[in-house]
Amino acid sequence: MAATLIDGRAVARDVKERIAVKTAEMIAWGITPHLAVVLVGENPASQVYVRNKENACIKAGIRSTVIRLDEDCTQQTLEDTVKKLNDDESVHGILVQLPLPKHLDEASVLRLIDPDKDVDGFHAMNSGRLMNGQPAFVPCTPLGVMELLKAYDIDPNGKRAVVIGRSNIVGKPMAMLLLAANATVTICHSRTQNLAEITRDADILVAAVGRANFVKADMVKPGAAVIDVGINRVDGKLVGDVDFDAVSEVAGHITPVPGGVGQMTIAMLLCNTLDAAAKRGR
Ligand code: NAD
Repeated sequence: MAATLIDGRAVARDVKERIAVKTAEMIAWGITPHLAVVLVGENPASQVYVRNKENACIKAGIRSTVIRLDEDCTQQTLEDTVKKLNDDESVHGILVQLPLPKHLDEASVLRLIDPDKDVDGFHAMNSGRLMNGQPAFVPCTPLGVMELLKAYDIDPNGKRAVVIGRSNIVGKPMAMLLLAANATVTICHSRTQNLAEITRDADILVAAVGRANFVKADMVKPGAAVIDVGINRVDGKLVGDVDFDAVSEVAGHITPVPGGVGQMTIAMLLCNTLDAAAKRGR
């Protein structure tokens, strides 16, 4: 394997340790950072994510509250819950765990979250601020990718970056962050023609597609930093969007799955919660 492995576990551990120190300082000033998570229904994956978030908060000293609503709860009940959290002075960050059961309107709920407590960064106010280059809460996964690049001294300034995927949660904010870091950015998606021609130009290639082993070695520029956001389950095993073994022979840096980007998402959620608390404490 020629590529340097980007160790998401180690970087996430460092970030969490820094957060724990800052949280202790804030508590000493009389502010206890507090994240409230709303979980609707019994989706097993969501239950695991929420438990992991809760545990990470507790470890860092951040107060965590999980509000559990029944699978068949009404839109009104969910919206009232969010409004109550908006009004609760002790709550700094609010997160509604997605996906919601089908009968609920996700977009309306996300719109209701106070943008200053929107630690997932999904509110249009925060995506607008990111677009305008203003301080914003940024979705945790792309924020985590930027932290990984920084940890391995991969400076996007002047580089060509290609992002595969244009979702509001990963692809678009990822592109905006790379642009803000002075990369020349191309966003590719399901309708992109001659994808490999474009990706072969990338010094930094981010894959956020959701298809196992989608990025092949012949799509990668020798020496490129390849960041694999994808999480796919194949025969019960977690794999990314990148054909890891083959691409490792070509890339300069590569993130594994698991143990790469996924590790960073919760770490950045803690960062956003701390920022939200610090902003309100001022
Ligand atoms: P999504 O389904 O919303 O978006 C996928 C994107 O891939 C779309 O924009 C689509 O245009 C693009 N795409 C699909 N087929 C393509 C093709 N043939 N060529 C080029 N582009 C194509 O998914 P998402 O929410 O952005 O997530 C992407 C992946 O990242 C998923 O595997 C998801 O599980 C994973 N993810 C991981 C984390 C994490 O913490 N590591 C967080 C969020 C998402």
